[in-house]
This record gives sequence, structure tokens and C-alpha cells, in this order.
Amino acid sequence: MQTQEQKEFIQNAIEQVKLHGILKYLPDGKLTHAPFSLSPYTMTESVFEEMAELTAPFSELMIRVSRSPDFLAHHLEPIAAIDTFLKMLLDCRSREVTQNRQLLVQRNDFFIANEKHYTDKQNSHPAEKTPEGAVMRQVELNTVSASFPFLITRLNQLHKNLFEQNKLPEVIQNNPLDAVVDAFAHAVQNYGISDSVMLVVVQPDEKNIFDQLGLEQHMWVKYKIATVRKTLTEIHTDGKLRQGHLVVDDKTVAVTYYRAGYTPDDFPAQEAFKGRQLIEASSTIQVPDLAMQLSGMKKIQQVLTKQEYLSDFVSEEISGRFLQTFAKMHTLDEIINTPEGDVSAAEWLSKHPDDYVLKPQREGGGNNYFGSDILKLLPVIKKEEQKAYILMEKIQAVPHYSLQVVNGQAETLNCVSEIGRFGICFAENGEVKNNRDAGYLVRTKAINVNEGGVCAGFACLNTIAGFDSE
Ligand code: ADP
Ligand code: MG
Repeated sequence: MQTQEQKEFIQNAIEQVKLHGILKYLPDGKLTHAPFSLSPYTMTESVFEEMAELTAPFSELMIRVSRSPDFLAHHLEPIAAIDTFLKMLLDCRSREVTQNRQLLVQRNDFFIANEKHYTDKQNSHPAEKTPEGAVMRQVELNTVSASFPFLITRLNQLHKNLFEQNKLPEVIQNNPLDAVVDAFAHAVQNYGISDSVMLVVVQPDEKNIFDQLGLEQHMWVKYKIATVRKTLTEIHTDGKLRQGHLVVDDKTVAVTYYRAGYTPDDFPAQEAFKGRQLIEASSTIQVPDLAMQLSGMKKIQQVLTKQEYLSDFVSEEISGRFLQTFAKMHTLDEIINTPEGDVSAAEWLSKHPDDYVLKPQREGGGNNYFGSDILKLLPVIKKEEQKAYILMEKIQAVPHYSLQVVNGQAETLNCVSEIGRFGICFAENGEVKNNRDAGYLVRTKAINVNEGGVCAGFACLNTIAGFDSE
């Protein structure tokens, strides 16, 4: 039961969150605030620091992988033979011209688990939230459309205000918005054509529009750089090439920022595909370029959990630190080593569906299979389709209580939190010129919810408030 004082605190926070522009559209078109938490997350300081330190090496890994076309082709082309969306993406390469400048704006997502869970197999319950033995496990690295730099920066400001009014604990300073906007502005200036713009590639019916508009507004306020918003289909109709430059609505596009193009829904017709090809054929700086987008695919993530592949791209020291953060990943057609001997991953999964997440080659939430849905799907996956799916050990994130506010309703729930680190990396001809960690995102969701999307209403935006004592 909430006291009158708590109710007033929550009601005021809801108004403040709207005032800060932390908004989203509901499926019926109504405007509401984005889900947010009023219980900033606490974590172990050493894990927090390791996470931040690994951002730049992870970005560099993605740049290197993206510049290894044979490696990408070797692992993705067999899947493209059965996955028409991946095939279409690979086909976009046909008109690609070499763009020697690469800007990566990525978000690397993790859960905090407890080592005890991994070492003590008898312990089937998630361990208590204690600093000892806290380990980070990577969920995935998003190379395309790393969302929430605006909304999370605004929530951080609001949580900071509430701290100063003695209503919340102190939160860790966080401003990915400035970092991302600075990187975009630098890239636009680097492109070297005056009055050029940034093209934001958007989905036909975007629900998370305020995160994008906030970023665009900040580009204007801070740098007077204009943005143009278009779907891929609109880019086909409204765009053209002029002396190698992409020109949209008569404006030269220095930077093309993808907040779409990673799901089949963004390609409703052939025109959208042509829109993407037009971008590829120009010299605009793409965030990310196709090779970086492909480097972030789940198949590539799975392959890179194997040391023999990973060590081709990073030093031994970094490889060791990366491997510490990886959950076990397999393809469905792999033979894996289990306590019952060597068995096919598909067979093992059918007996242990709750221990894994089954992932197709898709981004953007809502595509993965959990528990009983895995059991329904497995029998309908044909043998030749198995290689298109990745099996990932389910990370047993350490639970904690959190006051969650979704569409005006507040509730304290047993939750888990997913922590993302934003990373920005600028490279020229494969040489990294600028590479930095750019702050964090926390998404807190009820423990019984599988998927993580904020805009889908599964998870609440959150900040980090200090550290658990070590
Ligand atoms: P997407 O590209 O669709 O965002 P993710 O791999 O990030 O795919 O998975 C979506 C959500 O599913 C995550 O945000 C997380 O909440 C949950 N999830 C994914 N992988 C795991 C895992 N190995 N263990 C536990 N939860 C997971
Ligand atoms: Mg994700």
C-alpha cells in the first residue's frame, strides 16, 4: 500500500517525466510517458568500471570485424540461403561504394549475475544480490539504432533533481546525448560540405519518436545542424545521387543515421530496398554502414564467443576479458558437450528450454523464444533451417525490488536490470581515430518478463545510484 506521501511523490514524478520529454506513443496513438523507474539501480563498482573500460575495445572489435568481408560472408551467407531478410541485406552490398569513414554509435547490453550460480550447479535459484561474486554477462551488442541517448539523459537529470530534493539517492552522472550529438556533428563537419544535413532513417510508424526528436533538437541547438527524417521508401522517392553525394530534398546528406532498417517491417516494398541501395551507393557517412550492421548480428556474436575466432581480432589480454563476459552460445545444429555427453544442441534444448534463449537473426525486440515457446517452435524448424538460430544460455540476472511506473500506474516489483554502455568510435580507412565510452542506459523489468523493450512496455528506463559496498 502506498501512503499519501508516496502517492504524491509518484504523481509529481509522472508530471516531471512528461515535462522532461520522456514520452512515447501507445499503439492506439495516445501519448504517454515512457516507462520509468523510481528505484535507481545499485551495482558493484568494479563491475561498473570493467563494463565502461571494455566499451572502447568492443567498438574496435566491431570496426575490425566490419572490415573483414570474408569472415562476415563465410558465417552469414549460409544463413542468407534460408533467411530472405538477411539475403536482402547482403544484396544491398551490390551497389556499395567504399566509404572510408566509419562512425559507430553502439550500445553494449549486460546483465549482472552472480558467479555462484555458475559455479554451483546445485543452486538452481538466482543468488542473493551481493557484491561478492557479481559478474557481468553480455546480452548483445547493438551496432544499429542504439536507442535512448536522449530519454536516458533526461531521466538522469530528473533523478538528479529528485536527489537534490532528498527524494532519491544520488545517481551517477550520465550524458550519452551530448556525446552522441558531438560525434554526429564532428562527422558532419568532417564530411566537408557546408550546409550539409544529417538524414535520420526512421520506421514507417515510429513509437519511440521522442528519443529521436530530442537528439535532433539537440543537434540544432548545439551545432545548428539540420536533420531530415525519412523512411527507406521515402529516401527512394525523394533522394538522388549528385557527384557521388546523397541528396535528399535538395540537401546534401553528410551523415545517415539509421533508426530503422534492421527488421523486415522497415522494407515493406522493393522501393525501401532501393532506398537503402541508394544510400550505399553514395559517400554519406552511415551510422552504421552495412558491414558494421552485419557485424552486430547474433550469428557473429555467437562465433566471436569462440576464442579461436575472437583472437584474430583482439589482443590476448582483451580476448581474456571479453570471454569473461560471454554467456555460452551455440547454433542449433551444433554438437555440444553436456553432463550427459555430446548431444545435438537442438536435442539438449528440447530437454532444457528454460535454461536458454533461442534467437533468430533479428533485432529490435520481440523476436526471441523462451521456455514453452521454444518447445512449440523446435519441431517446426527444418534441419536446414537450424543454422539460422542461435542458442544462448539464459543469464540468471540477480533480482532486486524496484518501483516501476508504466502508463501512469506505479508498482513495486521484483525485477532484474539490464545495463547498456554507449560507445562511439570514429575510424578512417580502418584506423581508429576516436573511441570512447559515452555513458549508460539501465532498463529494469519484472523478473517474470522475458523480453526487454521499453517502448513495448516491458521495461522501465532507469539510472544507476552508486555502488554496493564491496
Ligand atoms: P534484440 O536484438 O531483439 O534486442 P536481445 O538479444 O537484446 O535481442 O534480446 C532481447 C531481450 O531478451 C533482452 O533485452 C533481454 O531482456 C532478453 N534476453 C536476451 N538474451 C538473454 C539471455 N541470454 N538471458 C536472459 N535474457 C535474455
Ligand atoms: Mg537488445
